[in-house]
Amino acid sequence: MQEFSIQDQQLTLESVSLEDVANQYGTPCYVYSKAALTRSYLEYSQALGEHPGKICFAVKSNSNLAVLQLLANLGASFDIVSGGEMERVLRAGGKAENIIFSGVGKTKQEIIRAMDVGIYCFNVESQPELEVISEVAHARNQEVSISIRVNPDVDANTHPYISTGLKENKFGIDFEAAPAVFQRAKELPGIKVSGVDCHIGSQITELSPFMDALDRLLVLIDQLAELSITIEHLDLGGGLGVTYKDEVLPSIAEYIAKVKERLGDRKLALLFEPGRSISANAGALITEVIYTKLTAHRNFAIVDAAMNDNLRPALYQAWQEIRPVTTGSDAEEQQWDIVGPVCETSDFLAKDRALSIKAGDRLALMSAGAYGFTMSSNYNSRGRAAEVLVDGDKHYLIRKRENFEDIIQGEYLLEEQITDTP
Ligand SMILES: *Cc1c(COP(=O)(O)O)cnc(C)c1O
Repeated sequence: MQEFSIQDQQLTLESVSLEDVANQYGTPCYVYSKAALTRSYLEYSQALGEHPGKICFAVKSNSNLAVLQLLANLGASFDIVSGGEMERVLRAGGKAENIIFSGVGKTKQEIIRAMDVGIYCFNVESQPELEVISEVAHARNQEVSISIRVNPDVDANTHPYISTGLKENKFGIDFEAAPAVFQRAKELPGIKVSGVDCHIGSQITELSPFMDALDRLLVLIDQLAELSITIEHLDLGGGLGVTYKDEVLPSIAEYIAKVKERLGDRKLALLFEPGRSISANAGALITEVIYTKLTAHRNFAIVDAAMNDNLRPALYQAWQEIRPVTTGSDAEEQQWDIVGPVCETSDFLAKDRALSIKAGDRLALMSAGAYGFTMSSNYNSRGRAAEVLVDGDKHYLIRKRENFEDIIQGEYLLEEQITDTP
């Protein structure tokens, strides 16, 4: 978060005052730092260094076209989980050969489109999916690279909703069942077995779960070698956490160095799928206080951003820092709940924060660059927020705020339905 600072009592991103951003683009408004996105991506790519492999940005964490374009220009690869994300990467100038396709429910149409454009690898999550990919590839007289997502059954010590590498999760193939699935893959027409992958969860704050998963995958890779199945790449997924509050994290460099060291003399390319650790702390959500409401029990600051703009607190009880956009307020400091206008009790951005607040003030919800805008919706018929990119002392609108016409686009009144079939 080093790109955020206080200058002349203003919360500033790079060299741009966030009060100026709010004045120009309105609120609520997501704002991202080009320098921060660049810095965290380069931390990964420089740590990988000359070792063969790819840093595949997890598009679901922040899929704005300008953000993807910026990362593509830096040489990033991309991890996608839908056909829509694939089109975004291509539209942003990312190359198909730098795309890996994850996700438990790839449809046949998505698989065909991925083969049409020529993606790098399918990360297969089940045997039925493997069969479909083989069938489609064979019918097209094509051979496609696949990796099999293995569930290493390690506890990532994170929130249960973002833990994905335990036996009871829907993701990947059981560790014990994996060798048989690899053997099946080797026999299937149209399939080139290329990798093993896993993704054990998100917001992981220590290295040991990654190292446990890595050790299990290496055992599997050695086992597969004995079955004459040669694995070319190992993909450890994403999941490295960030500091939202006071979490102390291993550095990206330390993580990747440890992984490289653990490979021993195995000739394996390394893939990573970081999302949050690249984008979360590169962004903030700027909101304005509409009303303050003081009750006998609590003080509410009702702001113009809501759970439809930033779902993480409602969905995961996530904690994100709230900062005043202009500091040095003369209002008295009190405990505040920061809540939105949406008709749900879970519609809050933060609870019990000591702040000086009055109506009209702007607040910044920090660490909002990942799983912020991408999880936003039109719930309560609220238009989605604007997105702005800051670069040094310049700022650019990279997504305009949705208006009413945007919200109802694609809807039909009863009589229109009959004449205008989609
Ligand atoms: C969500 C996801 C990621 C990214 O996770 P982060 O915690 O944001 O790094 C990577 N790979 C897969 C398969 C995912 O589902």
